[in-house]
Amino acid sequence: MGWTDERVALLKKLWLEGLSASQIAKQLGGVTRNAVIGKVHRLGLSGRATPSQPRPATYKAPRAPRPVSATPAAPRRLAEPSHQPQPRPQVYREEAPGSATVLTLGAHMCKWPIGDPSSDSFTFCGKRAGDGAPYCVDHAQVAYQPQQTKKKTGANELARSLRRYI
Ligand SMILES: [Zn+2]
Repeated sequence: MGWTDERVALLKKLWLEGLSASQIAKQLGGVTRNAVIGKVHRLGLSGRATPSQPRPATYKAPRAPRPVSATPAAPRRLAEPSHQPQPRPQVYREEAPGSATVLTLGAHMCKWPIGDPSSDSFTFCGKRAGDGAPYCVDHAQVAYQPQQTKKKTGANELARSLRRYI
């Protein structure tokens, strides 16, 4: 069988469609795979793209812009915020609550009991109390709140009894 125009046209078509030489030979009939390959070469069709391997895209999509900084910026160091209020200027030295004991409790010190009276860690508030008052301002407010009165009766009585000795 020779290469008629129709057969050559079919060969071109099938080749360009991506069929292999042996597939084309089968389709055409009467020719071998080698004959197909030889004809393809003679027709100058051999440089077709391999259908099984899609042509690598030559167009490269523009790269997504990189983030300005790959690593997150270190958190800005802020000046240490002063959580603690500045101590108010005071004319007397204010003791921290719970600093007084029975031995150190003075006449003008808050006698607000702190802790369990039966335990060794029991202390008194010790802050400066008003003249003639058993408690400092803060504890006086707590002691004389109506809803707290009952609750603090024991504390009041303890303070009252202590005043006899101080
Ligand atoms: Zn107090």
